[in-house]
Amino acid sequence: MALEFQLDHQDHKKVEDFIARSAAGVSAISLHPKVAAAQHGVAETARDAGLEVLYDPRTERLEHEGFTLQGIPGYTGTPYNLDALAANVDQRQQLIDAVLGATPDVVTIVTPPHFLARDARTSHLDLALAEATRLSTDKRVRPVLMMKARFPVADAAELAREYAAAGFDEIELRFTPLGGEDDGIPKIRAAFTIADLFRSAGLKVVLGRSGNVGQTAYALGHVDGYSMGIGQMEHVNHSADITRQKQPPKLDEEGNKVKSGGAWQGVYIPNLATTLSMKRARTLLGHTDVRTKLLCRIDHCANSLLGPVTDYRSHYLHSRAAEAERLAATPPAWRGKIETDRLQRALELRELVNTKYRAAGEPELKVRTLQSLVDGIEEERAAVA
Ligand SMILES: [Zn+2]
Repeated sequence: MALEFQLDHQDHKKVEDFIARSAAGVSAISLHPKVAAAQHGVAETARDAGLEVLYDPRTERLEHEGFTLQGIPGYTGTPYNLDALAANVDQRQQLIDAVLGATPDVVTIVTPPHFLARDARTSHLDLALAEATRLSTDKRVRPVLMMKARFPVADAAELAREYAAAGFDEIELRFTPLGGEDDGIPKIRAAFTIADLFRSAGLKVVLGRSGNVGQTAYALGHVDGYSMGIGQMEHVNHSADITRQKQPPKLDEEGNKVKSGGAWQGVYIPNLATTLSMKRARTLLGHTDVRTKLLCRIDHCANSLLGPVTDYRSHYLHSRAAEAERLAATPPAWRGKIETDRLQRALELRELVNTKYRAAGEPELKVRTLQSLVDGIEEERAAVA
């Protein structure tokens, strides 16, 4: 296990080409809830290359109303009432059957339906859904447990024991909100502590949608793997997702849907350890003062200074995979040092960009999460020494 990529609508061709060449550092891909059928090619390529293939049903969104839920397995047009679902085994099985029906055959690890775990009832509902899913399929099952970032540690310890007792040996944890640019040390420490509890209960742990936080957690041995989208999904923010799905689509005077400004094109800049908008990345890479500090020399980027922006998806894949591969190839005791150096370099470069190369109106590159990660690593290394 190492890095897992979660595919969006339009990622499959680039991901397929990337995996067909080399997938070093990457251990799995996850198919999109609504367009998995169109992603069959990349799924087969990944499976043939020895990667795991997952399918993310995104059922946690079904607890609320929304304009973008059509196509999510189990969607009935009415929000799920979790109290009712916790009390009704038939309704739970219907949801599981819908998710299994939508899960493509090529998938190697099944993801059960899941909802935000906010208390004892909802977390036990998630466990019940996972257990019943396992009884309904012959494949490996990896539950997703999305928890509030401040989930009580004692309750998490109990939950970890229950998942282990139920026979699960792997789980994906998602903490919400976590992984943005404004996380303090206590929040990160709490997430790592909960990941440790699941690991010591005997489960392999993947930190879902977790960008830099996931990479650091992996470097420090708190998790076995971490996942992200391609230029996006580097953090979890459940309430923001729900707010977004409740926004009515914009209509023009004739009542037709207005196309928004196009898909987000996230350009990862490895030396800044951040993903920028296309416009901002293009400006920075075009500035002769700093472009040499921001270069990527992998694959197509080796031949083009603007490689990260001309093909941002392939660049994202090869640069993130290279970072994962480097960590995986390093003995565990030295990974913390590699990660500190990477984050420290990014902090310095962010300060430089903020003070000298920030256009009027552009936000500062925030440093709080990165600084918390660096301080956290130092804390852990001091404790071991
Ligand atoms: Zn590149």
